[in-house]
Amino acid sequence: MTTRRDWFTQMSVVLSSAAASNTSQTSPMTGLEPKRALPLVEYEPESMLHTSETHIERSRYPAIDVHTHLSVSAKSEQGVSLVSERHFLAPAQELLPCMDRKNLRALVNLTGGFGDGLKEAIANYDSAHPGRFYTLTEPCWSRIQEPNYASIQAQMVEEARRAGARGLKILKTLGLFLRENVTSGALIKVDDHRFDPMWDACGQLGIPVAIHVSDPIAFFRPTDRFNERYEELAAHPDWSFYDRDFPSNAELLEARNRVMARHPRTQFLVLHVGNFAEDLANVSENLDRFPNMTVDIAARIGELGRQPRTARKFFDKYQDRILFGTDATPHGTEVPQQLFCDHLYEIYYRFLETQDEYFNYAPARIPPQGRWRIYGIGLPDSVLRKVYQENATRLLKITV
Ligand SMILES: [Zn+2]
Repeated sequence: MTTRRDWFTQMSVVLSSAAASNTSQTSPMTGLEPKRALPLVEYEPESMLHTSETHIERSRYPAIDVHTHLSVSAKSEQGVSLVSERHFLAPAQELLPCMDRKNLRALVNLTGGFGDGLKEAIANYDSAHPGRFYTLTEPCWSRIQEPNYASIQAQMVEEARRAGARGLKILKTLGLFLRENVTSGALIKVDDHRFDPMWDACGQLGIPVAIHVSDPIAFFRPTDRFNERYEELAAHPDWSFYDRDFPSNAELLEARNRVMARHPRTQFLVLHVGNFAEDLANVSENLDRFPNMTVDIAARIGELGRQPRTARKFFDKYQDRILFGTDATPHGTEVPQQLFCDHLYEIYYRFLETQDEYFNYAPARIPPQGRWRIYGIGLPDSVLRKVYQENATRLLKITV
């Protein structure tokens, strides 16, 4: 069997030997002269397929988006949030009309921070509009060097719960950004024992940990022509975790698995399809191993929708443990905010509810993660109800 890499190697041999013997400057493979060669960024092919296009204006059942970012840290350095102060990306009044249009019962604001910033986020969203917003707390990483950090952090989670936080959110800070001297020194591992009291506190309080560990597998590969997310990584070189002192994707996921194994009474909502949407067999294996694990689908319909038959089986088998989420960040988007919000949700609904074929997975002409398109998985009503809402209400202990 010829692999893609073999094929490229053979082709480059053909091309270079042809170039050596051919002075006409015409490619022996395409017959094109160099001036007709098209830079990748200018390539915008329009699909000639006539396929059915279903416009899903509202989700079939009321939905809870468990993965949004409505407030973020006002100051962070090298991927580590340093202050309690929050920067608010959108006021509730701006979000509610979109939520009503799209049949969104509630948004979960994962990045609520801690201390006074958290209280402000809860006041702005949760308390001002009961039942429409739920905010989670985050660890105070900047205190990691304090000798009794472990117990301080557990206490802070308890205080956050009393203030109204519905869970604990871990950004990919852990394992990839947080270091012994906060932003310098050796990287701190996901399963570092200093965090054990924090995971236990969540279990005791009955609140979930929404955890992001690692990133797309392509981010751990060289940014070269074989990388399926080449354009994205070329545009954001700092998103690459290839080389330097970063652990591998496998090491990160294994450390996360050890945390779930060590804290069976704590519920872990492992974001972005268990952070390995490219390998649903791996995610399934972990879901089988860890009864305290659930996943969301945020920012991964680009992967799920490229493998619709496997994804459909995955949803059927784990229908009680998959939650609806988008990673919506109502800020800095290409198109006006209202349009972005509507379009984003319509794409998710189309993926979950229809059998439509070959459509864009993001509200952009050139989708940001890679130039592929996706296929709907047409979930039945009984599964849709669970994914849109029931699994979230159970995990977050929300009554609707
Ligand atoms: Zn996110």
